Amino acid sequence: MKARLLFLGTGTSVGIPVIGCRCKVCSSKDQKNKRFRTGAAVIFDNGQTTLLDATVDFRAQALKFNLERVDIVLLTHHHADHIFGLDELRIYNYYQDSAIPIYIPKYSYNEVRKVFSYSFRMRGVGGGVPIMKFIKQGTNPIAFNGTNIQPVTLYHGETKIFGYRIGKMAYLTDVSAIPESSLAQLGNLDILVLSMLRYRRHSTHLSYDEAVELAERIGAKKTYFTHMSHAFDHNKLKKTLPGTMEPAYDGLMLEFEVNE
Ligand SMILES: [Zn+2]
Ligand SMILES: [Zn+2]
Ligand SMILES: [Zn+2]
Repeated sequence: MKARLLFLGTGTSVGIPVIGCRCKVCSSKDQKNKRFRTGAAVIFDNGQTTLLDATVDFRAQALKFNLERVDIVLLTHHHADHIFGLDELRIYNYYQDSAIPIYIPKYSYNEVRKVFSYSFRMRGVGGGVPIMKFIKQGTNPIAFNGTNIQPVTLYHGETKIFGYRIGKMAYLTDVSAIPESSLAQLGNLDILVLSMLRYRRHSTHLSYDEAVELAERIGAKKTYFTHMSHAFDHNKLKKTLPGTMEPAYDGLMLEFEVNE
């Protein structure tokens, strides 16, 4: 079976343009320089849809890119830019008439539960809160829609987080380093999505040099970068990258094979 990966957002935590910034990228007319907060959807051929993080821009993303369903959510970690859209799932509860399973990395489970404690307290009120089934996820594969989704442990500074591998595609955001045991799970990829914050080094995110080096090491057929700051102009960045690598952009859609 095939699926499509849809980039709902490719920007770092403040989004691009940055509020109040007059730099060239923030004032650019190029749509590829406008970046919602980083998230994506995987839409399987039969319509079943996996959301990779529920960003603080989720409502605008879902409207702009016509996201019709959300069947499960895979969270990478608990930072606000990646989870504050969970409240917007209410509307899918209404259309789909069911609770939505939210897979939360075991390292982030308590934090996420704390933020959304109101959704537990207010059950049964009807319409006002999202109906979510929180699942504390370890490193075992997640069975969904006839395939196995593999969580991949990553470092985001000192914090452990998850990326996810679905068939020939792996989605790894907010990465600062990848343990050797996880690199072993990233062989034979057609598509690698990897975060790359800016040119200068950062304590919790890969810089340009680090991201390119890591992408070369993983050796996917094609690598797409995400979670980018206003240091990157889309077209300029594209020209400097090796031929197997490209910056992603909001709305980019890529097809891949779900079974390895
Ligand atoms: Zn982030
Ligand atoms: Zn700027
Ligand atoms: Zn983060």
